[in-house]
Amino acid sequence: MTLNQSWVESAQANACDFPIQNLPYGVFDDGTGARMGVAIGHFVLDVGRIDHGLDPVLFAEPAWNAVMAAGPEAWARLRARLTTLLSDRAHRAAVEPHLVPMSGVRLLMPFEVTEYTDFYAGRHHAFNVGTMFRGAENALPPNWLSIPIGYNGRASSVVVSGTPVTRPWGQVKGPDEALPRFAPSARFDLELEMGAIVGQPSRGMVSVAKADEMIFGYVLLNDWSARDIQAWEYQPLGPFQAKATATTISPWIVTKAALEPFRVPTPDRERPLLPYLREPGPMLYDIGLEVALAPDGKEETIISRTSYREMYYSAAQQLAHHTSSGCSMRVGDLLGSGTISGPDKEGRGSLLELGWGGKEPLTLKTGETRSFLQDGDRLTLRGVAQGNGYRIGFGDCTGQILPAIELPDWAME
Ligand code: MN
Repeated sequence: MTLNQSWVESAQANACDFPIQNLPYGVFDDGTGARMGVAIGHFVLDVGRIDHGLDPVLFAEPAWNAVMAAGPEAWARLRARLTTLLSDRAHRAAVEPHLVPMSGVRLLMPFEVTEYTDFYAGRHHAFNVGTMFRGAENALPPNWLSIPIGYNGRASSVVVSGTPVTRPWGQVKGPDEALPRFAPSARFDLELEMGAIVGQPSRGMVSVAKADEMIFGYVLLNDWSARDIQAWEYQPLGPFQAKATATTISPWIVTKAALEPFRVPTPDRERPLLPYLREPGPMLYDIGLEVALAPDGKEETIISRTSYREMYYSAAQQLAHHTSSGCSMRVGDLLGSGTISGPDKEGRGSLLELGWGGKEPLTLKTGETRSFLQDGDRLTLRGVAQGNGYRIGFGDCTGQILPAIELPDWAME
C-alpha cells in the first residue's frame, strides 16, 4: 500500500512529526490574533479560513471545544476534508495561502479546559512510590488493582507548553521537625503523563466502549508536583496544593483517529476487573515517550524513555469509572493518565522515582546532579507514535522553572 503524502513538501511522512496522517489541532497567534490551526509539516493551516465543510460558527472562538461538541460524525468529516485538501494537488492553490510558517507563531491553549481529573493508573509508578513509602510488600494500596484511582484537580492550573512554572511556596514538615514551616518547595518534580480530552458530554453511567467514543484526542501532560508539600498535606484526602501550581500540556491535540493504528491492549489483569471496567478491545496506544532535562541555557539530558502502553488502565476505563457514580462529564474535560513509568529504571516518569526519593541523584550530561528540579531547569516531554513509513508527533511539552516569588509581608513573621 502506498502511503498518502501531502503536497506540502515539509510534510513528507517519514521526515516530520506532522505528516498528513497526523493533522493535530491547536490554536496559534501569528501576531494578528488567536485562531484555530492544524499542523502540517512546518506549517500551521489557518483552518477557519479554508473550505473546511463544517458550520463556520464552530471556528468563531480560538478553541476546539465547539468542534468537539459537534460530535464524532463532524470530527470524521473534518478530518476527511483536511486529508483531501492537503493531499490532492487540485486544492493547492486555494489552500496554500492559508499556511502559516510554524516558526513564526505562538501556540496557545488548544481548548478550554472545563474540568481536570488526574489519575494514578501506572502500575510501575504506583509500585515504585509505594515501595519507597511502605516497602515492596505493601507497595500497591489494596484498592489499586480494582479501581483507577484519581483525584479532582483544578482546570485553572492547566497551561500550554512554554509557560514558565514558578516554584511554589507551601507548608512542609520534615520527619524530624515538630511543626510545619512555610517554605519554597525543595522537592519540586515532574510527572510524565498523557492527557485524554473528553469531546462529548455524558449524563449518568457510560460503558468503556462508549467512553472511548467520547474521547476526542490526546496531549502530553506534565503534572508538576511538590513532593514535600504533598507528603505533609495528602492524608487523608489526597493531593491539593502540591499539584495545583501548574499542569503543562503539549500544544497540539492529536486526535483519536490519528492514533487508531497504534492501539494496544492494557496488560494482563492481575485481579479480574468488575464488569463495568472490562474493555471490549485494545484501548491503550503505543506512543514512545521521553523526558529531557536541561539546566538553564545548557545541554539537555534524556532522563527517561518509556511508552504510554505501560499503563495498567486506559483513558476509556478511567472515564467509564469517572461516570460510575452518575458524575456528568463535560466537553473539554481533561483526564491525566497518572505518571507513566516503564518496568526499568530508565523508564521512570518522575524524579521521585529516578532519584529514589533523593537517595540516588541523577548525573546529567553537564556533570551536574539532580534529585529534584532546580531553578532555571527546562523540562521537556516528547511523544512519537512510530508508524510504517511515518510518525505521529505531539509537539514539545515544555516548562522552565522560575525561582519562588518573594513573600508578601503578611505571610512573613
Ligand atoms: Mn499525576
